[in-house]
Amino acid sequence: MSALTPDTPMKRVAVVGAGPAGLYAAEELVRQDRHRIHVDVLDRLPAPYGLVRYGVAPDHPRIKSITGSLRRILDHPRVRFLGAVALGADVTRQDLLDHYDAVVYAAGAAADRRLEVPGEDLPGSCSATAFVSWYSGHPDAPAPLPLDTERVAVVGAGNVALDLARVLTRPVADLERTDMPEPVLDALRASAVREVVVLARRGPWHARFTPKELRELVGLDGVDLVVDPRQLVPLEGLEPDRTAQTNLRILTEAAQRAPTGAPRRVELRFCARPLRLLGTDRVTGLEIERTTERPGATITGAGERETLTVGAVVRAVGYRGAPLDTVPFDPARGVVPNDKGRVLDADGALCPGEYVTGWLKRGPSGVVGTNKLDSAETVALLLDDLDERRPRRHPDLAGVLDRRGVRPIGLEGWSRIDTAERELGATRGRERTKIADWPTLLRLGKGPHPAREEPEELPWPS
Ligand code: NAP
Repeated sequence: MSALTPDTPMKRVAVVGAGPAGLYAAEELVRQDRHRIHVDVLDRLPAPYGLVRYGVAPDHPRIKSITGSLRRILDHPRVRFLGAVALGADVTRQDLLDHYDAVVYAAGAAADRRLEVPGEDLPGSCSATAFVSWYSGHPDAPAPLPLDTERVAVVGAGNVALDLARVLTRPVADLERTDMPEPVLDALRASAVREVVVLARRGPWHARFTPKELRELVGLDGVDLVVDPRQLVPLEGLEPDRTAQTNLRILTEAAQRAPTGAPRRVELRFCARPLRLLGTDRVTGLEIERTTERPGATITGAGERETLTVGAVVRAVGYRGAPLDTVPFDPARGVVPNDKGRVLDADGALCPGEYVTGWLKRGPSGVVGTNKLDSAETVALLLDDLDERRPRRHPDLAGVLDRRGVRPIGLEGWSRIDTAERELGATRGRERTKIADWPTLLRLGKGPHPAREEPEELPWPS
C-alpha cells in the first residue's frame, strides 16, 4: 500500500542528461510510492534522448523507436524537461545541490578514446564520436572527414566500427529512408569511398561486435565482405565464448564466399594494430603491425609491418565520459567515481545527495536496455538515502535560470522541433529529417520571441 498522502512533502530530484540512462532514472523516481518526487531532467541540448538520437545508427530504426517509450517518461506530470541548460555553463553543481534533494548525473560518455599514435591529429583522422555525431545530425558536429578518398581505415572491432563500415559503404538509397540531415546525405552521395578496412588488434574470438550486427554487414547488398580465412583459426588453448563462436561461424561462411564484384567492399583484418598515421597536410596512409596474442596474455607486436594506403582513418576504440563542472571525475576511467551509483569524492568518501548512472557510472558498455537496470540500482540507493534525509524546502531552479537569462526549452519546445523534423521528412517521403543547426533548433524550441509576443510559460511546479 502506498505510504503517500496528499500532505506528503514533494521532494525534488535533478537528473542531468535526457538520454536513456537519465530518463530511466526519472521513470524509476516517479513510479515508486515511497516518496512524492518531482524530477527535472536537464540536458545541454534542445532535444532529449541522448545517444538514441545522436548515437544509434540512423539505419537501425527499431532501436531508434525506443524514443516512443522515452517520450512517455517525459510526459509524466511530475517530470519536467529543461533542454538547452548546460551544467557548467548555465548552472553549477552547487546550484543543483542548493535546489534539489538529490542530483543524478547521467550525461553519458560524450568524449572519445585516442589511439595515442603519431599522426592522430592530422586532417583526415577523426574519432567515431565525431563521425557518428555528424551523420546523426548533432548540432555540435561539422563534417569531420572529407569523403574524397577511395579507402578508409576504421580502427576497432566493436559495434561502432561496424556501424561506420556500414554507413560508409551501403548504398545511399538505403540511407535516404533514414532521418539523416540532407547535407549528410549529400556528402554520402558524393562520397568516393569504395573500401573500408576494419582493423582489430586482437583475433576474431575477441572481437567486441555482436553477431546480429556482423550478420547485417555480411548481408549488405552492394557490399562484399572480405576476410582472410587463415585469420579465423582460434588460438590454441582458447575456448571462444558463445558470442565469439557465432561470430566465427558467420565470418567463416563469409570467408568462403567468392567476391561478387560489388561496387564497395569491407575488409575485416584481425591481429593488426595501428603504429602511426602517415601524411603531412592530411592522412595518406596508416602504418600497421601484425600482432600475436596468447590466451590470457596481452597482445604483442609481431614485428611485421605494412603500410595501408588510405585517405582517412576513423578510430572507433570506445567512448569516454567527460568531466562535469566540479563533479568528482576519474580521468583514467572516464567515469564519475561511485559505489553502485552513489558518487564518491577523490578520497573515496560519499558525496551526499549525488548519484550517477549510465555510461558515466560504469563506462561505455552494453545496449540501451542495460541502462534500465543500471538506473534502477542507482535510484534504489537514492530512495534509501531520501528516507534518512530531513525534508527541505527548495526554491525552484527557475529563479536562478531567469536571473541568468537562461530560457530552457521545455517539452512543448521539443515537440515543436519534433513536429518540424517530421514535416521536413514528409516533404521527401520520410518519417523524419533531422534539423542539425543550433539557430533553427533554438528558434523552434524557444518559440515566439518574448520581445514580440508573450513569453511561453514553462509549467514550473508549485
Ligand atoms: P567497444 O565495444 O568497447 O569496442 C572498442 C574496440 O576498440 C575494441 O575492439 C577494442 O579492442 C578496440 N580498441 C580499444 N583501444 C584500442 C587501441 N588503442 N588500438 C586498437 N584498438 C583498440 O566500443 P564501441 O564499439 O564504441 O561500442 C560501445 C558500446 O556501444 C558497446 O557496448 C557496443 O556494443 C554498443 N553499441 C551497440 C550497437 C548495437 O547494438 N547495434 C551499436 C553501436 C554501439 P580490445 O577488445 O582489444 O580492447
